[in-house]
Amino acid sequence: MKKIGVLAQQGAFVEHIALLRRLEVEAFPVRVAKELDGLDGLIIPGGESSSIGILMKEYDLVEPVRRLAKRGFPIMGTCAGMILMAKRISGWHLEPLGAMDMDVRRNAFGRQVDSFETALEIPVIGKPPFHAVFIRAPYIEKVGDGVDILARLPNGIGVAAREGSMVALAFHPELTNDLRLHSYFLDIVCGKG
Ligand code: GLN
Repeated sequence: MKKIGVLAQQGAFVEHIALLRRLEVEAFPVRVAKELDGLDGLIIPGGESSSIGILMKEYDLVEPVRRLAKRGFPIMGTCAGMILMAKRISGWHLEPLGAMDMDVRRNAFGRQVDSFETALEIPVIGKPPFHAVFIRAPYIEKVGDGVDILARLPNGIGVAAREGSMVALAFHPELTNDLRLHSYFLDIVCGKG
């Protein structure tokens, strides 16, 4: 059985773990670097990116996760996790992980509409559209050549991307009952995606 770790400094890690367990993989919270040993994939959850970033630094997780990303390890970041994975972030005062070659804007949808839900077309998981929950979400401003945008809002804004074995989602798939995006990530982990 594949082993997936979920960074458990802060945010929606419990929900990711519960959802992964429904897919019959072993899922563990990761709080310190040695808990990364022996994993097949890693999820960086949504929450508050500054808090997660600060705690990752405090628990010496920044460099180990950067090293994993560099060697092509499967990592999926959701919402705050997507912010942390980007190379360049607008509205950020900490050093990003820089795992994916993209520019991300934090709290990008502004105050009035900072949370919304929408039916999102994501061609790589097929039909029907995914019920995407955006909570004070970021969006993707620009991507480098090696990055594919997996989904866009109707106005063209990118909200999901993939680079090699890494996936970034601006929304919270762990807050729905739809397992397709976690399955998509597990296919990457298993070398099938
Ligand atoms: N607005 C949060 C941040 O900047 C992200 C929100 C979330 O993960 N739902 O970190």
